[in-house]
Amino acid sequence: MTQDKSKGNIVVIVAPSGSGKSTLIKRLRQEIPSLKESVSHTTRPIRPGEVDGVNYFYIAKDEFEQKVESDDFLEWAKVHGNYYGTSKQFVDNEIANGHSILFDLDVQGSDSFRNYFGEKAKIIFIQPPSIEELEKRLMARDTESLEVIQIRLENARREITRKDDYDYCVVNNDLETAYQDLLSVVLTILGGEA
Ligand code: ADP
Ligand code: 5GP
Repeated sequence: MTQDKSKGNIVVIVAPSGSGKSTLIKRLRQEIPSLKESVSHTTRPIRPGEVDGVNYFYIAKDEFEQKVESDDFLEWAKVHGNYYGTSKQFVDNEIANGHSILFDLDVQGSDSFRNYFGEKAKIIFIQPPSIEELEKRLMARDTESLEVIQIRLENARREITRKDDYDYCVVNNDLETAYQDLLSVVLTILGGEA
């Protein structure tokens, strides 16, 4: 990429599936509308309540592979058996305009961002209270099959070992406390901008 990397802030949220990341991000975006959220492309099926172009751009595997070939992604990864990628064009445009962007990435994506943006990428890990609680939340959310939930839990065990590798860690036990902690971290990253 060729854009000026000094403008805007890069806020990355990384968390095991079911830890409450989407719930927290939704509220954060209502409170800080100036923080733009990157909408990734994915090959995973759309969930009830999700909207194409809002939560993700839902595309077929061959279309995703074409985008990889065309170098359309800043980073992409296979996560829980599906592909996810961050649009280079979106990031280029927003950063060139000096906007701050919020990214919701898996650990592979956050590692790519660290390599690309260096310390400019501020990475926040959302930690679930325990694997048992994570399982309860995924079961209660009821958006994935039992098989997919088991894959997500296996991956969570591995992802949690990375919790100290990031700039900030927010434990999502009590939702309100976690939200206030996250808000405080994000306001610190944005400085006077928000
Ligand atoms: P993620 O985006 O990380 O996969 P979600 O935001 O979808 O996770 O949260 C998973 C489920 O857990 C949802 O049903 C959500 O309402 C619930 N949840 C989120 N945070 C909490 C919390 N602190 N306590 C109890 N349930 C929570
Ligand atoms: P979900 O299917 O629950 O929406 O997301 C599964 C995982 O994919 C989450 O950890 C989420 O952060 C991650 N993810 C979403 N978009 C991207 C992306 O563009 N790149 C990468 N590397 N991970 C992503």
